[in-house]
Amino acid sequence: MGEITTKLLVLGGGPGGYVAAIRAGQHGIDTVLVEENRLGGTCLNVGCIPSKAMIHAAEAYHAAVLQSADASPFGLSAGAPSLDFARTVAWKDGIVGRLNTGVASLLKRGGVKILRGRGTMVDGKTCVVETDTGPERVRAEHVVLSTGSVPAALPHLPFGGRVISSTEALSLPGVPATMAVVGAGYIGLELGTAFAKLGAKVTVVEMAARILPAYDAELTRPVARRLSALGIEVLLGARATGLSGDALAVEVGGESRRIPAEVILVAVGRKARTHDLGLERLDLDMSGPFIRIDERCATSMRNVWAVGDVTGEPMLAHRAMAQGEMVADLVAGRRRAFHKVGIPAVCFTDPEVVSAGLSPDEARAAGHEIRTGLFPFAANGRAMTLGAEDGFVRVTARADNHLILGIQAVGAGVSELAAGFGLALEMGARLEDIAGTIHAHPTLGEAFHEANLRALGEALHI
Ligand code: FAD
Repeated sequence: MGEITTKLLVLGGGPGGYVAAIRAGQHGIDTVLVEENRLGGTCLNVGCIPSKAMIHAAEAYHAAVLQSADASPFGLSAGAPSLDFARTVAWKDGIVGRLNTGVASLLKRGGVKILRGRGTMVDGKTCVVETDTGPERVRAEHVVLSTGSVPAALPHLPFGGRVISSTEALSLPGVPATMAVVGAGYIGLELGTAFAKLGAKVTVVEMAARILPAYDAELTRPVARRLSALGIEVLLGARATGLSGDALAVEVGGESRRIPAEVILVAVGRKARTHDLGLERLDLDMSGPFIRIDERCATSMRNVWAVGDVTGEPMLAHRAMAQGEMVADLVAGRRRAFHKVGIPAVCFTDPEVVSAGLSPDEARAAGHEIRTGLFPFAANGRAMTLGAEDGFVRVTARADNHLILGIQAVGAGVSELAAGFGLALEMGARLEDIAGTIHAHPTLGEAFHEANLRALGEALHI
């Protein structure tokens, strides 16, 4: 067995792991990154990037269909569009491929050694990697566990055949005529909406009483309206019970229903990738199914760190990256901690949803006296010029000193407002700070400005 000694071993090359490795390389730390699949992990290969590519392509196709039906709100008309779905998938794969190459070259530039193969921990400092050319033992002073997550399965609807996860949904051979989506979280709704726009008849089955259950009802209402306008049937309080011939069997409102479904996308969450890693040989404290970490991403074992989805919610790529970057700084001897006031979460649904920090209900539940301001896009000039007036920006602040506690938005393109929301929270902005900042006109960001003015009782345009 080959043997490598290094200062830092990173197990898993997703956003958490590869960013830790790049930063460590920049610090001149001798680093080995172990990845059994493709660099970039879930996010780059079967998550954030390919899903957003498919959503964009679906949006473009849907707009063309509206034009051909003379139903474009802008008075555009065109001939019937055609869809070469294989080319759509190839375009998406091309983007993923370019980014894969980019990550590999950034790692190379940082002098990171990449070991391809599955790694299994032997103890807190040693990992055995099954490479194509045989096993390699890697001994390291520091270990970062960044093995991510995998789609959660339903026992009565195991993956296989036409029961698929988001991974397979991103590389289907064609657009199915009918699709059932089990789970109305962001992954199910993003992909379900994309396939509906590409022409599939989509039905969403959700156990909870509303879609996007992690968000408040006011915020998700515009998305529910749009799903309905797109002809997507949403069954709430409904339980998928199994396959029934060529349909999905569902119990809803005390009745059994059969939902015709060429493809059944199960999107009921993701589970930490902690199995088959040899973790049982380590003395790691767990927090339910996740590796327990402190505010520096340190585990219960000295010099063993964990970042990203394997450490729990929120399972988001930018959180994993921020943690990975911090851990590399810590290994390099810098003083760092992960105290984030608000990690923005974005649903690339139609319309998009952003949440950073606390919602009004969460702020009240945390014991705050609050004031809120909501500004609708129906009163925003830019939203009108985009034909996208459904939605709003909402801000929540402490009643006493006006410190902003949380910002949410729903509307077309609001994902691009997320950075400003995060900045406001991290900088400890008060309502007056945003109200006193000049926002360019005409932009969607003006709704953020006006929401702050409104919370102060001084809105100008409503
Ligand atoms: P992962 O990205 O899961 O990477 C872990 C890596 O470890 C993998 O490459 C895996 O092969 C490797 N690995 C595991 N075990 C071993 C082993 N034993 N040996 C070697 N290698 C191993 N997040 C967002 O922020 N924005 C989005 O828009 C978004 N969209 C998403 C859409 C979909 C469809 C999905 C599924 C997810 C989406 N996410 C999104 C979530 C995001 O992908 C994850 O939060 C992110 O990838 C987590 O990064 P990570 O580094 O913790 O783990």
